[in-house]
Amino acid sequence: MKNLIIFYLLTLSSCGSANYSIKGFESYVEEFHAQASKYNKAIDLAHLDISFGDTQSAGPEVIGLCYTYESSEDKDIVINKEFWNDATELQRKELMFHEMGHCLLDLDHDDSIVNPPGRPKSIMNSHMIATYWLERFFDDYVKELFSK
Ligand SMILES: [Zn+2]
Repeated sequence: MKNLIIFYLLTLSSCGSANYSIKGFESYVEEFHAQASKYNKAIDLAHLDISFGDTQSAGPEVIGLCYTYESSEDKDIVINKEFWNDATELQRKELMFHEMGHCLLDLDHDDSIVNPPGRPKSIMNSHMIATYWLERFFDDYVKELFSK
């Protein structure tokens, strides 16, 4: 409890929102929020932090992580910068929506496939979805994400 009070004091005495930052990722959060509203999903953005950082200690192919905590409402998304710099806009959006799916919607991975035509059903797939599918089905992926 003492820690919590100190934390609050630090927050109040700092300039702006030093403890929660989505700097550089605002447009993705705004779009996610707009889509959530469209599908009547309440999300908590007050405790969200997004930053570039180490993801590969979780595995060599990991490009994004969502941390949640038992002791607080904090939700920290960490993005691999190398991946980000080489990614297309659509891949960035997929990664952000995927991680926010974990952190803000409490969703787990879903690796199911829609047959036919054999496309990954959900943006919560544990692997990146091929651009071919993203380009054709992004709206369906968004709808599926907020209908879970
Ligand atoms: Zn994931």
